[in-house]
Amino acid sequence: MRVLVTGGAGFIGSHVVDRLLLAGHEVTILDDLSTGTRENVAHHDGERRFRAVFDSVLNDRVVDTLVREADLVLHLAAAVGVKYIIENPLHSMRVNVRGTENVLESADRHRTRVILFSTSEIYGKSPDVPFREDADRLLGPTRIHRWSYSTAKAVDEILGLAYHEKHGLPVIVVRLFNTCGPRQRGRYGMVIPSFVDQAIRKQKITVYGDGTQTRCFCHVEDVVDGVMALLTCDEADGEIFNIGSHEEVSIIQLARRVRQLTESRSEIVLVPYSEAYEPGFEDMSRRVPDLRKIHEFVGYEPKRNLDDILHSVIDHRRTVLDSERALGQDRG
Ligand code: UDP
Repeated sequence: MRVLVTGGAGFIGSHVVDRLLLAGHEVTILDDLSTGTRENVAHHDGERRFRAVFDSVLNDRVVDTLVREADLVLHLAAAVGVKYIIENPLHSMRVNVRGTENVLESADRHRTRVILFSTSEIYGKSPDVPFREDADRLLGPTRIHRWSYSTAKAVDEILGLAYHEKHGLPVIVVRLFNTCGPRQRGRYGMVIPSFVDQAIRKQKITVYGDGTQTRCFCHVEDVVDGVMALLTCDEADGEIFNIGSHEEVSIIQLARRVRQLTESRSEIVLVPYSEAYEPGFEDMSRRVPDLRKIHEFVGYEPKRNLDDILHSVIDHRRTVLDSERALGQDRG
């Protein structure tokens, strides 16, 4: 297949690209390099079945040309990361709503199948864990920037499902829970690479809030397994799937485990949310996916545990930090 991956130079996108190429597909990426990097896909430079277009999903003409040339679109291009959204509220809304509209309009015009990448932020701060795909959502006020991301992604999902229902466009929605692994960076707020960098650099490990909030982290390779399985599942069209892991850990436990595995003596400190993000910031106390649906459809089951994730991130961050240090570019 000829596959267009928007956001293909991002953390998750680049892992999807690796696997698509390995499976023999032709891949074009469209990425504006806002949070993605050339290095994430540099190992494919010169490959015959790989093409990179560095432009924005807001550029509707480029989107239309690339969608027309594709048999399948994986739409991952988005403004992501709680910190990034809070710092760039206007740009984030535009990219996350208008960008997806562009992709869906072109897919509709050219009858191209789309997998829309959505997020567990959709469920907001609902206390009803584990979250089922058809569960109610609970969001805070519009003034709190965090909720704008959930809202934008909900608009994307609603649009995608409406194209499916009204025009018969094959659209699948996947809601990714906290995804981690090599190539993820802490700069936009993601907790595991942040803690790992702090531990390696012997800096304080900053736990936001009281650290009792929990997350279920899933290795990016497991997430890609789930996505690849859906590619060959026709019954998945018009459906929404959670993808993630069940292994729940509190953020304070996570900080301790990172410190142990890196053999660091970094102090673990608590930072109030209002200081870490913005006044009035709200966090969810638990976030756990219900994974029964994707298991029923394609037999999905994550294979890697938290320690596997941490080892892979620690190895990766050590390599990156060592080479930055050698080049005198350590941004610590
Ligand atoms: N977090 C933290 N310290 C950090 C970054 C994040 O304690 O340096 C917390 C954050 O407040 C949240 C959890 O770790 O409770 C996961 O944060 P992340 O931004 O990775 O993902 P989220 O689940 O919030 O989308």
